[in-house]
Amino acid sequence: MDVHEVELVMSAVKEAQYPDTGWPEVAFVGRSNVGKSSMTNVLINRKNYAHTSSQPGKTQTLNFYDVEHKLYFVDVPGYGYAKVSKKQREQFGQMIEHYLTQRDQLRGVIQLIDGRHAPTEDDIMMYQWLAYYQIPTLIVATKIDKVKSSSYTKTISAITKGLQLQANTPLILFSAKTKRGKQEIWDWIEQQTGV
Ligand code: GDP
Repeated sequence: MDVHEVELVMSAVKEAQYPDTGWPEVAFVGRSNVGKSSMTNVLINRKNYAHTSSQPGKTQTLNFYDVEHKLYFVDVPGYGYAKVSKKQREQFGQMIEHYLTQRDQLRGVIQLIDGRHAPTEDDIMMYQWLAYYQIPTLIVATKIDKVKSSSYTKTISAITKGLQLQANTPLILFSAKTKRGKQEIWDWIEQQTGV
C-alpha cells in the first residue's frame, strides 16, 4: 500500500480506549532499540512519525495508528526493559497478553529481531508465546544493512534455529536504511488484513 495518510489515534492503557471502528489491526512487537520505529516510518513513508519507543520507566501504552482509514498499526511497547519494576512489568504483560489473545480485529503480529545477533531469551519467549496462541506472525530481521550479504544464510539459520521457527512463519530481512524488505512486509500485511 502506498500510504499518504496516517494518524496516531489512541495511546491506550486499557481496553475501553481501543478504537471501535472494526478495521483490521497488525501489531508490532520487539525489544527496545530493535528498529521498530524506523521500520514503521519506512512502511508509512515518513521520516519521523513513529517516535523512538518510550524510555524505560515511562508509561507504557499500546499506540494505535490509523493507516489510510483502512487499518491500524498497533505499536506494542518494547519488551526486555531492565529498568521498569517487576510490578510494572507484570501489569504491562497482562495488558499486552490480553490485547494479543482477545482482540478480534488483530490479524497478525510482526515480531522484529535484530538481524545482527542471535535471538535473545526475550525474543524466544515472545515468539514461542505467539506460536502457542497460534497468532499469525511475521518475523522481520532488522538492520540487515549491517550484515554482509554473504552472511544472510547464516542470519536466517540463526533466527530459524534460535526461535524454532514454524514452517508457516515467514522471515523477511529488512533495512530501514536501504528499505530492503519493505514491499515483502507490505505484501504480508495486505494478505493478512485484506486491505
Ligand atoms: P525502536 O526502539 O525499536 O523503535 O528502535 P529505533 O527505530 O528507534 O532504532 C534504534 C536505533 O537503531 C537507532 O539508532 C536507529 O537509527 C538504528 N536503526 C534502526 N533501524 C536501522 C537499520 O535498518 N539500519 C541501521 N544501520 N540502523 C538502524
